[in-house]
Amino acid sequence: MPIPFHVPFADKAAAKAMGARWNPTLKVWVAPDPEVAAAMRLQWRVVQEVEPITDLPGEDRAFGSGLFVDLIPRSCWFTNVRYCVAPEDWTRLSVGIRQRAGNRCEICGDGGVLEAHERWDYRPDGTQILKRLVSVCRPCHQVTHFGLSQLRGLEDECAKHWARVNPGVDFDAHVEQAFAIWDSRNRRDWVLDLSIIGNAGLHIVKPVAASERRAVAERTLRDSG
Ligand SMILES: [Zn+2]
Repeated sequence: MPIPFHVPFADKAAAKAMGARWNPTLKVWVAPDPEVAAAMRLQWRVVQEVEPITDLPGEDRAFGSGLFVDLIPRSCWFTNVRYCVAPEDWTRLSVGIRQRAGNRCEICGDGGVLEAHERWDYRPDGTQILKRLVSVCRPCHQVTHFGLSQLRGLEDECAKHWARVNPGVDFDAHVEQAFAIWDSRNRRDWVLDLSIIGNAGLHIVKPVAASERRAVAERTLRDSG
């Protein structure tokens, strides 16, 4: 088993030179063998085993199944669960979500690099309520956040993956419909409801105020290229 280490961003070149590998799923640097681990231990702390969280009381695991484009209102970009819980809790959640799905994408069944995706319900009263967390492969995640993928030049990859998962379903027509829904969602600011995270006993850091989210989203997008 590769051993994960707390490597500060500024040390990543040093870790790489030492033989560490980046684990894109856990988002940590790992030592692939005991020799590299021994060298890394002199500089960095081992990431302790975490207790995965698999049970989110109140979660609806049947909500929003299948592959579809689900555009997050612009005012809520980058102000998701990951930013509302402590980093260790996010790790526990993302490990648990993946484990309970049998280390597979819950949309298409693929393995490989898996990410945790949030499914939201948009209520008429202006509440954006977190319904479930889903283990998804990167291509399914990119299709789901198609607006962001477009900005990153990934349209062709998305269309190809769509055709594999939803054969015979017109992608362009689906995207058009998704953007129409998005337009209507963009007309208001949303109040996030993260109750299922709180029900799991996790402390929710106060989400960024709706009025400030737009600026956070723009800054994050600009910094990530
Ligand atoms: Zn998938």
